[in-house]
Amino acid sequence: MNLPRIAFALAAVALVAAGLHAVIGAEPAPPASDPAVVPTITVRELKDGNLAPARAMPAVRKDAATWKKDLPARVFAILRQQDTERPFTSALLKEQRLGWFVCAGCGLPLYASADKFDSGTGWPSFTRAADPAQIVRLSDQSHGWKRVELRCARCDGHLGHVFDDGPAPTGERHCINGLALDFKPAP
Ligand SMILES: [Zn+2]
Repeated sequence: MNLPRIAFALAAVALVAAGLHAVIGAEPAPPASDPAVVPTITVRELKDGNLAPARAMPAVRKDAATWKKDLPARVFAILRQQDTERPFTSALLKEQRLGWFVCAGCGLPLYASADKFDSGTGWPSFTRAADPAQIVRLSDQSHGWKRVELRCARCDGHLGHVFDDGPAPTGERHCINGLALDFKPAP
């Protein structure tokens, strides 16, 4: 096979792949990062170690260059580019203390330690959000697999996905990248 033929074959493969991608469906849009468009949201922050009452506040929006400067490279790749960490790599898997798992991008409390469980998957797993309003759900049909993506309600950072094979009381398994979270022990 000569070079032009190889190039033609590669182009054909790329076209077929693009077509398949269109049929299967793409990932949801990247996390919102336009600082000119800042919606008002109603969420709960931490106060004295507990969830404070819901309060209206501006969402967190920064352009990609600012996020890149503010976050470690691996955290940026997950929160802002929907990457996935390798399983069994998160220090949070072994975290047993009482406290809160907050967004690594903006500090919003997302999960309570009481709702964490060992799913055996290698990613920190929770049965429910600290408050459903703290987490946004988006349909994700990439890779030929229908899933629900989870994002932080304040900074729109990518957290992971939710599946319906979790334990009681919700039956949900929130499968979260440990790098998308910081742990705040109870005071
Ligand atoms: Zn956030």
